[in-house]
Amino acid sequence: MQRKHLIILMLLSSQVIQAQSADPEYAVIIKGGHVIDPKNNINELMDVAINKAGKIAAVSKNIDPKTASRVVNAKGLVVTPGIIDMHTHNFAGTEPDNYLRNSYYANQPDGFTFRVGVTTVVDAGSAGWRTFEKFKDQTIDRARTRVLTFLNIVGEGMTGGLPEQNNADMDARLSADMALKYKDLIVGFKVAHYNKPDWVPIDRAIEAGKIAGNIPVIVDFGGSGLSLEELTMKKFRPGDIYTHTYGGGGKEREAITDPLTGKLRPFVFEARQRGVIWDVGHGAASFSFSHAIPATKAGFFPDVISTDHHGGSMNSAMKDILNVMNKFLTLGMKVPAIINSVTWKPAQVIHREQLGNLSVGSEGDVTVLRIRKGKFGVFDQMGQRIEGKQRFECEVTVKGGRVFYDLNGLTNPLPKVVGGLPSL
Ligand SMILES: [Zn+2]
Repeated sequence: MQRKHLIILMLLSSQVIQAQSADPEYAVIIKGGHVIDPKNNINELMDVAINKAGKIAAVSKNIDPKTASRVVNAKGLVVTPGIIDMHTHNFAGTEPDNYLRNSYYANQPDGFTFRVGVTTVVDAGSAGWRTFEKFKDQTIDRARTRVLTFLNIVGEGMTGGLPEQNNADMDARLSADMALKYKDLIVGFKVAHYNKPDWVPIDRAIEAGKIAGNIPVIVDFGGSGLSLEELTMKKFRPGDIYTHTYGGGGKEREAITDPLTGKLRPFVFEARQRGVIWDVGHGAASFSFSHAIPATKAGFFPDVISTDHHGGSMNSAMKDILNVMNKFLTLGMKVPAIINSVTWKPAQVIHREQLGNLSVGSEGDVTVLRIRKGKFGVFDQMGQRIEGKQRFECEVTVKGGRVFYDLNGLTNPLPKVVGGLPSL
């Protein structure tokens, strides 16, 4: 072997540790990475092992790589529970003019999830009780991504236009019945795009949430012009969610900042104190630095970071969950807090405590991230840009002990070819 080839071989070997046991105990070991597992207060170098049943089997300092079928050398990388994107739109279909309900504008999840470290998405109300089973058949049952959902309080779902204003199609009992029938998939209820100045959809969604076992509602405040303070301080139960936290402004939808002073409004922290969850839901036009900068300067970072991923946001200032996380990194949010906001916190919010953490027995979903240093920009829908020095990139995504994405082939062995490897 030429000396040059030997050096290349040694370099590549530092990224891949070959398994050697004939019948290894574990499916995957992620070795030598900096583990951030907010639920268990882990923030240090650790190995993570996932068993053949697809569950977390061990998190400890030195797990023997010979005991696994596949090994990821995560040296220099950050290892987290699989990312949960708590606000997406995945009811893809072929009905024209239906906005995000069985339409061209929604995205099948697998094309947009594993490559950015996401193992679970929570669709935010694309389907209602009348259309949920079609969504289940077309997307949930066929996706490799774990797809959970908030059910729209409008029976037809998120069609856009007049059907979303139809109070007669907002039935708490029938919505709750569907949620009780599919308890494993439906995590709560959604209100969105309502433009009349009354509380009917919010009252019905909260009623449905109570009937279905006290599950949460998530509210896009639409264009009703109602009071955000009244919503979050009086209407919401602890655990209910406000999405598009850093959006709004103007008469149709109030913002978290005061329109006169530009400062964070005082009740926002109080609402958090009483258990209200503040979700990003970035979307195509629901995140502005005009709100996010004063809010985060005042120490108000989100509880949950999510994308509101759909055809209109995916190539905009939003892009993907890592880009939204990068915005908060640039705004000064600490890495463990960012990881918490896409793992353990959303898992708790949707009452799925087997997700978003690395406790032994939890789902074997793990994301391996690189924090790249350099000079990077992020912008909002107004075209306002700020610069930062770090950003997240996804190296490897594991769901249920299976590697679904591996950017640099870290889990793959060197090729065995006659004549050795190519010269570089
Ligand atoms: Zn949305």
